[in-house]
Amino acid sequence: MSVGMSLAMKAKQPKQKRCDRCDLYYPVTLDECDHCSQLNDSQLAEFKAQHQETLQGNSTFGKYLLFGSVIIGLLLLLSFL
Ligand SMILES: [Zn+2]
Repeated sequence: MSVGMSLAMKAKQPKQKRCDRCDLYYPVTLDECDHCSQLNDSQLAEFKAQHQETLQGNSTFGKYLLFGSVIIGLLLLLSFL
């Protein structure tokens, strides 16, 4: 990627700041976080728990993907024998 292109992309992206409540990023143009400003404390706890589950789910999916590619690799190897 050229320097000019990355500069252009930086200029295009809106500035974001990290929310102290939910740890997600939101545009600085907003006065309050658009992820959690509507939530009360118990809803926020639930929201964060769900967010955590999503992250863990993704890593499990990654493991399955790796496992699947190993199996496919073995099958390919066997078909050559
Ligand atoms: Zn937030």
